[in-house]
Amino acid sequence: MPLFGKHKDTSPPEEPSSPAACEGQTAPPTIAFPQPTLSGDNDDLTTAKKLDDAFRSVGDAKQGFHKYEDSKSRKFLNKSGDAVNLLQTNVTTAQSYSSPMKTVYESDAMKVVREGVNTLIDNLPGLIKALDEVAKLHPFIGIAVGAFRVVVELDIKRRDNDKKIGVLFAEMKDMMEALLQLRSIKDEEAIGPDGLTIKARMQELVKQAADEIKSCANACDTYSKKKLIVKVIKGSVWDGTLKGFIDAFANRRKAFTFALSIHIGVGVDDANRKLKLIDAKIDIVLEFFAKAVTPEQQELAALVQKKGGPTAVMGDNDTLKELLKFKPASTTITKRDGAEHKAHEGGGDDLSIVKEELFDSPELAIRKNLDIFERKFKMQQRELTEEVKRVIHHEGDRVIEAVTSGPHERIIDPDIHAIWKEMRWPGHVKARHFVLALRDFYREQLEIKKRKIHGVEEAASRLNDQDEWALEYISLARLQAISEAVDDDASGFVTIAEVNQFTTSRPKDFSLPQWIAYWAVGWHMTSQDYRAKIVDIFAKMFSMRPLIHPANRNAVDQYLRAVWRKICTLTSSLVTTTYPDSLRDRFSTYVESEEQRLREGLETVKYDIDAMDTLSLIMGPGRVEKTLFPLLYLLLRRDFEIFRVCRTRMIHKDELWDASDTILYVLDAVINRYNDLLVTFKQQKVDPANQFKVHASELFDYWHDDEDFWSLKNLRTYEFKELDYNDEEEDQNVDVGKLLNYPAADDDLYVVPNDVLTEGDAQADEAVRLILGRWHGFQAASTRFPMGTMITFCLHASADHGSYEAGAVGAHGTAFTVLGGYRTKEDGTIEYSFTRTYAARIKKSYFVGTLDEDGVTLSGKWGYSLEKMDTAFWFKRGVAPEILVARPPPAEFEENKIRALWNYALTYSLDEARRRLYSWSYFKERRDMRTEYLELLEREVDDLSTEEDIARFAYLDRKSTYDDVRCYYILQNYRQRPKPAHFDIYCDNCGDHIYGTRVVCMECGTRFTFDFCEKPACVSSEIKSRDDVEAPHLPTHDLLKIRTNILHHREIGTVLRNATEGLKRAKTLLERAAKGAEEDEASESGSGSDEEHKDGEASGQSPTTPSSPKLAHRDFSDPSDSDSEAEVPVLTCVSCSETIAQPCWYCIDCPEDANIFVCQSCDEKGGVTVGDHLGTHTLVRCLEPPAEEDSDEEQDSTDDRVAALETQISALTSQMSRIEKLLQSLVGGRTAELVVDGEA
Ligand SMILES: [Zn+2]
Ligand SMILES: [Zn+2]
Ligand SMILES: [Zn+2]
Ligand SMILES: [Zn+2]
Repeated sequence: MPLFGKHKDTSPPEEPSSPAACEGQTAPPTIAFPQPTLSGDNDDLTTAKKLDDAFRSVGDAKQGFHKYEDSKSRKFLNKSGDAVNLLQTNVTTAQSYSSPMKTVYESDAMKVVREGVNTLIDNLPGLIKALDEVAKLHPFIGIAVGAFRVVVELDIKRRDNDKKIGVLFAEMKDMMEALLQLRSIKDEEAIGPDGLTIKARMQELVKQAADEIKSCANACDTYSKKKLIVKVIKGSVWDGTLKGFIDAFANRRKAFTFALSIHIGVGVDDANRKLKLIDAKIDIVLEFFAKAVTPEQQELAALVQKKGGPTAVMGDNDTLKELLKFKPASTTITKRDGAEHKAHEGGGDDLSIVKEELFDSPELAIRKNLDIFERKFKMQQRELTEEVKRVIHHEGDRVIEAVTSGPHERIIDPDIHAIWKEMRWPGHVKARHFVLALRDFYREQLEIKKRKIHGVEEAASRLNDQDEWALEYISLARLQAISEAVDDDASGFVTIAEVNQFTTSRPKDFSLPQWIAYWAVGWHMTSQDYRAKIVDIFAKMFSMRPLIHPANRNAVDQYLRAVWRKICTLTSSLVTTTYPDSLRDRFSTYVESEEQRLREGLETVKYDIDAMDTLSLIMGPGRVEKTLFPLLYLLLRRDFEIFRVCRTRMIHKDELWDASDTILYVLDAVINRYNDLLVTFKQQKVDPANQFKVHASELFDYWHDDEDFWSLKNLRTYEFKELDYNDEEEDQNVDVGKLLNYPAADDDLYVVPNDVLTEGDAQADEAVRLILGRWHGFQAASTRFPMGTMITFCLHASADHGSYEAGAVGAHGTAFTVLGGYRTKEDGTIEYSFTRTYAARIKKSYFVGTLDEDGVTLSGKWGYSLEKMDTAFWFKRGVAPEILVARPPPAEFEENKIRALWNYALTYSLDEARRRLYSWSYFKERRDMRTEYLELLEREVDDLSTEEDIARFAYLDRKSTYDDVRCYYILQNYRQRPKPAHFDIYCDNCGDHIYGTRVVCMECGTRFTFDFCEKPACVSSEIKSRDDVEAPHLPTHDLLKIRTNILHHREIGTVLRNATEGLKRAKTLLERAAKGAEEDEASESGSGSDEEHKDGEASGQSPTTPSSPKLAHRDFSDPSDSDSEAEVPVLTCVSCSETIAQPCWYCIDCPEDANIFVCQSCDEKGGVTVGDHLGTHTLVRCLEPPAEEDSDEEQDSTDDRVAALETQISALTSQMSRIEKLLQSLVGGRTAELVVDGEA
């Protein structure tokens, strides 16, 4: 009952005077069949003849729903006027209509249909129950009953209130109702007059019915997601498609009825009469269907008409925009229409979404929706089986009957019923009061119990022995947590529905006090447990990063960038409390079963969530907090396993992209919940900041305001958990094949294309058949040809015969699907329109084109949106890719077609000859192309492509087959990126995005670090103005250099702490060395030159063993050394072995005792790698303390500075040319196609 109660009618009241209908007192207003009687005429001869007639009648009715013809049913109607009379007898008192959709000529018969639609929800549960009973007797109908039940549940979840969908469901219901007649056949093996058993006769029909139910539900799902304006403009087209189902259900029902009448022995005349009745009703249903538009649809339709009708409106963006702003005058409707807010990616504004929806034919839209729908269907199916297991009824639950004496009568739980009744609460009560009353009630029960033990009290306590422990937690201290659990929407009030939802959702083995205790403390304790697991997984992911195969490094970093910080905001925000361990056992069964439920849900969708409703099916009803952490844990657990695979195998680039996208959907749910709470708190006039500090154990506190937490000031001292990754401790039996959703990148290089035309292809429409097969081709951009690589795909017909599709992989490795339809224009030409949708990251594109006369070329215009389809494309069929690449660019054809064709032929035959001869020049050319392509790709990835590069790209793309480019991309993915881009880090001096070396001030910044690019001017700049500047940043501040891509918020704290430590060590060493040098000079003036130091070092310890500490020791003992240490170190550059002089750099990534120094001039070359010390290690700058020495030294240091300046100037000149290139790359981006990654 509560399940169905959710389906609320939110449209304006249509029949205010018919409350009776809502109480379910009227009979279901469908045609009531006379109960079959087992007697019947068994006149064999006449029966045979009559059977023929009846068969014919069924055959007539069996029109495919594609070819629905209005006239047919009308004929039947004329013949059977009495059918209408029969319908009229069922008319109830629905008289006064005030709704604008009411029309004057609405017949009584139609009112019956309307009634049927309106009371649908009340009638369905009963029907499903009855069908279940029949299915026990005749298991073969189970398949249809199951589908029907799932589809009904899904419809209820959608909370849609579209009358058209209502009509379809009413028809579906009528069809299923026909199956109830099976009740009277006790034996499914009973043989009918023609020798067939009922099962044999009906099995196939039932199967088809199940399919129709599913496809109808998919159509409804698709339709309901359409925007209002689309429903209006494309109303008639959609009507046509949806009407098909009404017809199909009626036909199916007729077939059922007929088959049954043979077995039940109704008599053929009777059977015929019934069939006609069905036809009679169908016409009325169809009429009603056409009129079933909401007032707002009607209002908008009038507006569309005023603007020149659907066709005119569709082509006019301004008008569409205007119509989009339409708000129905008859408002005060609080809409919960899923279609009006579009989910995350795709971006696009309203207009482009509407245009896209207008572009698709219903058939195509339905086809596109199929995958999502099937997933939902499966999830719902699972949920229903779960529900059977879960058993909602608890012992002692009250049976709700007619409500007579007050709202409390509707409460299912006996305890709360008693409380509610005693308190004389109305339909709702303040959450706080509710919890207090609850506490008092249980205290009182405890008292009663104690008194009873002492034999004082007679009345029995409502409290069990095993629940006593729970009372400790039903207390004022837990008021917040308990009221949140019952008051799901945080409105501050508890309603009866909420109470019932709360009590019935508890596991069967939980008593109410236990359940309350779970929400008082158990949820928080469990969340903390999952948080600990999440934190551990992240710690291991980060420590695993150096082990990741270079080819996967980008994907891994992108993933962490996309998900870590947001999840960490949540996990860090949840308050920490210690609970006794014993408490954990009390809840463990529930916690485990919840995790199990979530895991199964995720497995059904293969851990890939790509829509909000899929997510809510997995999470289950209610607020997101309930299952947030376990869900995140399960997702991360799987992603962690993918990380492990990433160490050794090259994974598909979309694998982790999808994984992070899935987590982002979960976080979207968090955002939605947060926003809802924010609005609620504001409405309650409480301070959201304070409220978030208590709500859900502070879960949303940092989400609400994360500035302090993520500020550099906090990060300087905040330590994220670190764990060492040890593979031996991990599961060694992970089935990688099951884990990954895509084949590993190296596996799908040579996919054998499946180009064999299928049977479905043969049955397709003529126009579709014309374009089936494999196509190769190019797309142009406005200024160049081609844009991107060669595209190849093989078109097959879709199941509906009227559209076509293809699945393929782009040369860059991302899979895409092509889906399309056609229309015949007035002049007879066929226009093909199709879309290409990538599985990830790349924008969807639209194509409209025609086939040329010889049937070889499909060409037209394409674009990223329907507004802008202005660049050309052409695809060729039956032309080998090797030939296509010899084709000159279109511009040449335009200039001189003959010459271009001649050129084409010549190039191809030359290529072909060289290829056949295995000519060296041919292979050299190909090798050079590959090398060049890879270089270009590298620059492209780094956003450094120049105009020239883009032109070269176009040339190479045109000259390379699909297979060639696919190889290039795979090679490119394997190559390690030489220089990192620091995401979202910009130079505080010049404002450029920092790329390669990032210089960070160790002293400045409270909100964020002060960062500089390595340009000398920037490194030596002074920054006075920034919002979080306390004192100006000076060039003499301590600096560090980061040359790897760090995840700023996670790692900067550690880096800064290590840098401070390292700098201290370096300074000590430098001071000691300087002291030693001074003493040298003092004692042995003249003989101890630098040269000799170096020689000494060379002989004492070979500088060619680079991994050894660069701490050379003097090979003579200094007699004048007064230091307690016998030796004084001479510090040398790890690269050039010169004695180090400040400024210099010190490595903080190498082990402490390695003490790696790099001199300024070596480091300027971009980081040196010697032995274990890598060029990517982080360095701190050691700057000479401000000089206070005598003039002699000053002279020296001035010389040094001049020398340093000179090297800086030379470095500057080389930098300038790079800046130039950078600027150029900003001007032109080849990569219109390769946009959108996790960053935004
Ligand atoms: Zn800069
Ligand atoms: Zn500074
Ligand atoms: Zn050096
Ligand atoms: Zn190092």
